[in-house]
Amino acid sequence: MSFDETLLQLRLIARKKGKYVMNKLFDDYLTGHIDKKRIISCLLCGSESNITKEHVLPKWVFENDPTRTFTTDVNQLSQKYIGTTLPMCSTCNTDLLNTLELYIQRTISEVDLKTKYYSSENWDNIIRWLETIDFKFQLMDLTTKFRAHKEAGYVPFLADLSIAEMRDFSIRTIQSKARLSLKRISTKDKTKRANSLIVGTTKVKTFNYFHKSGQFIHLEIPKYNKVFFYFFEKVFEDDEQAKKEAMEIIKSVYDEGKE
Ligand SMILES: [Zn+2]
Repeated sequence: MSFDETLLQLRLIARKKGKYVMNKLFDDYLTGHIDKKRIISCLLCGSESNITKEHVLPKWVFENDPTRTFTTDVNQLSQKYIGTTLPMCSTCNTDLLNTLELYIQRTISEVDLKTKYYSSENWDNIIRWLETIDFKFQLMDLTTKFRAHKEAGYVPFLADLSIAEMRDFSIRTIQSKARLSLKRISTKDKTKRANSLIVGTTKVKTFNYFHKSGQFIHLEIPKYNKVFFYFFEKVFEDDEQAKKEAMEIIKSVYDEGKE
């Protein structure tokens, strides 16, 4: 399969299987169905065979470091990136998403921002890749139970609710956010989105990541000296405006971390 065929396949799966997979996901994991016996299936195409573990954040991004964790906003519990996976079939995991990963790694390692800029095709595919990460984090929030809060401890009547339900409360909001995230993956044309992506160089030594589902993502990857910020929804007249807003968000997140 050529790279273009891989991307086409990814869009087709999102378009053709998306409705079925989403409905099954909501049925299996949202309120009222928590004790349901479910058949583990691929969260991208719905297949029930050859299920593998797809990392929500790719291993090369967090440098395969088993100690790196992130904190889930709603319960403040930390979770290891290495253990944060979703069920996906080997076709979706290896043939599609991993092919996109390899392309991204090659692209960002080859382009030296001092001498050469990204082609529009590269640019679109970086956007596409960041969109798949948002989609996977949304799937994770839907399929992960709240369990307990760092300070409040185990809260029996909340324990079985999903992280997504604790964040947004309205089932309709959760569903439309997840559907929208999937729809982005099925969309070929990213030209209107071009100003919403910012790529720069970084000198940090360890990888950094934060993300607000459906809104923005920030990724700093020291291995390739690159930093990415992307707004999933917002469109900008020019990239200066996007840069300014991204800097404000980055600053406020790091200020919070210092407190
Ligand atoms: Zn699949």
